[in-house]
Amino acid sequence: MRRRVYLSEGDIPKYWYNVKADLPFTLDPPLDPQTKKPMEPEKLGAIFPKELIRQEMTTEREIPIPQQVREAYAIYRPTPLIRAVGLEKALNTPAHIYYKNESVSPTGSHKLNTAIAQAYFNKVEGITKLSTETGAGQWGSALSYATKLLGMEVEVFMVKVSMEQKPARKHMVNLFDGKIHPSPSALTDKGKEFLKKDPNTTGSLGMAISEAVEVAFKSKNVNYSLGSVLDHVLLHQTVIGQETKKQMEVMNEKPDVLLGCFGGGSNFGGFILPFIPDKFKDEKMEIVACEPVACPSLTKGEYRYDYGDSAGLTPLLKMYTLGKDFVPPAIHAGGLRYHGASPIISRLIHEKIVKAIAIDQKEAFDAAKLFSVVEGIIPAPESSHAIAGAIRYAKEAIKTGEKKVIVFNLSGHGLLDLNAYA
Ligand SMILES: *Cc1c(COP(=O)(O)O)cnc(C)c1O
Repeated sequence: MRRRVYLSEGDIPKYWYNVKADLPFTLDPPLDPQTKKPMEPEKLGAIFPKELIRQEMTTEREIPIPQQVREAYAIYRPTPLIRAVGLEKALNTPAHIYYKNESVSPTGSHKLNTAIAQAYFNKVEGITKLSTETGAGQWGSALSYATKLLGMEVEVFMVKVSMEQKPARKHMVNLFDGKIHPSPSALTDKGKEFLKKDPNTTGSLGMAISEAVEVAFKSKNVNYSLGSVLDHVLLHQTVIGQETKKQMEVMNEKPDVLLGCFGGGSNFGGFILPFIPDKFKDEKMEIVACEPVACPSLTKGEYRYDYGDSAGLTPLLKMYTLGKDFVPPAIHAGGLRYHGASPIISRLIHEKIVKAIAIDQKEAFDAAKLFSVVEGIIPAPESSHAIAGAIRYAKEAIKTGEKKVIVFNLSGHGLLDLNAYA
């Protein structure tokens, strides 16, 4: 039986896929936090390069991937698609289970797909340094690697509780010569405000975003970079789904169920968006976002305009949200602790094209433990939510006897998360 599909370098996608070209509706625009009117692109220019603003707004179907970005992708792409034979056997399911393995990137997750692209477009426009936030540290380490590769600097604000739980990621940022601070910090005005309100706060992504945005606003050669949620971030991640489609064709299989874990929506979006045209042709195909019970934006949040950060500095986005002041409990899947959600995925859920399920921490870790043994990869606590979702569907297939084809995205490995396992 064929277990793996490796593609060659020539199969690295030549463009990013923009789902907006194929949606039968237009998305609600981001709103200016001051005027509450649709955001003017020029205003975003204070913190983002022109090309990324263009990518955020365009409805063009194919955005060419620059040669230099494809060359950097070639360090780890195309990533393998693997038939989870061990998991199928352990569950004794008639379902066929596959996973796309994004954990093989240099920093261990899908995040590098957009980090490289964002660093590149900023550099082309003369920016020398990026500021950003990071939750579990995955995004901070990915952006540090990307900026180092392109000869730029980076300053990272890391959610305090995650920095305490996961110091290894801080060391990785330092290895790539990035600067990293626990957030909230006393280095920014917003950070000082958060600390004054609650000196013992664990921090949150919303607070860290406020700090990083402030740093970018205050300096001309510094831009801000976001690792999830925004349309251009999902766009860059579509290399995952495009490769997966090709690999499923090599296996001569058609997915019945697609799953990914959901924090802000970037690995999920990058994985499933290239399949949206297929979903329009085949109503029965199921597309499922797996989020934690502890931070249930999609299953318990409201669909409305909200800020992306806690201080209310960012544009308002139409999305599923738990409210900008929501501070999630300190669960181990740090990358899934965000109050909001990607506007594209939010709309797809609102239109019932995509669905969401919530998985509790215990179910996620049980799935991770089984997967580590039978597939030989220790998954990131975040990715474990997708594994748990896939297992639910595989068990359902035992009851119905259907040979369902279940494909999920393994967004990252958990080798730096062993404390969480402890
Ligand atoms: C950051 C991260 C996530 C969550 O972010 P999304 O934007 O929802 O993909 C999931 N898995 C891993 C391994 C991560 O690093």
